[in-house]
Amino acid sequence: MSPEIPPDPRCISIPGWQHLQRIVLFTGAGLSAESGVPTYRGAGGIWHQYRYQDYACQRAFERDPVKVLDFHALRRATVLDCPPHAGHAHIRAMQARHPGVQVITQNIDGLLQRAGVRVEAELHGSLWRLRCPVHGVRIDQAAAEFASRRCPDCPPERAPWLRPDITWFEDAVNTDVFEHAAMLVDDAELFVGIGTSGAVWPAAGFAERARQRGARLIEINPEDNEASSLYGERLRLPASQGLATLFPIND
Ligand SMILES: [Zn+2]
Repeated sequence: MSPEIPPDPRCISIPGWQHLQRIVLFTGAGLSAESGVPTYRGAGGIWHQYRYQDYACQRAFERDPVKVLDFHALRRATVLDCPPHAGHAHIRAMQARHPGVQVITQNIDGLLQRAGVRVEAELHGSLWRLRCPVHGVRIDQAAAEFASRRCPDCPPERAPWLRPDITWFEDAVNTDVFEHAAMLVDDAELFVGIGTSGAVWPAAGFAERARQRGARLIEINPEDNEASSLYGERLRLPASQGLATLFPIND
């Protein structure tokens, strides 16, 4: 028998993807980085400039809510300057052709939604939502400055500060959102990791779960990372090119 030649890691394609049952697209920071959104971790990431202990945990918020909210307003302004790219548009086009294309994201920037993509689960919350400890989410608005920094539904004389509806450092994960995402992964015929890295739980956990349930796993990422070994197939391309190659749209 001749030795098997591995496929070129730049040209995996699924021309019949519209006939698959459920396709889960699991997206991470690499997808947004292509729009110019600064990453949080890694070299040059936001957490190298700002200590999360001062800006992104409940204790920091309780100590100095104005400082933490100012920081998040700055993050919002930065993200609003970053337009969605061709990869986001490709996912929207896929969903228009196949309702079984479902998106789970670790990103909090809302870029997918701005591009018109239907997102099933935001694992780490959203930069655009603010929540009250009593009333839950009260504001969901894509603007740099917050419409209000205090809960509009609490008595004005003791209205609490609204906090970003984001899973900060030291927070527990949102169990409902995670359970919903896990249910989608369990039924996936194809699981595609896009711009995710293994460094951040739960990316590796969801890929592993999909693998155990017998899904086909493909990674779209320009470079190898800690989670790559979980994927049977890898497309070494940026998200926009990888999506167009993997899921051709010919109409
Ligand atoms: Zn309230």
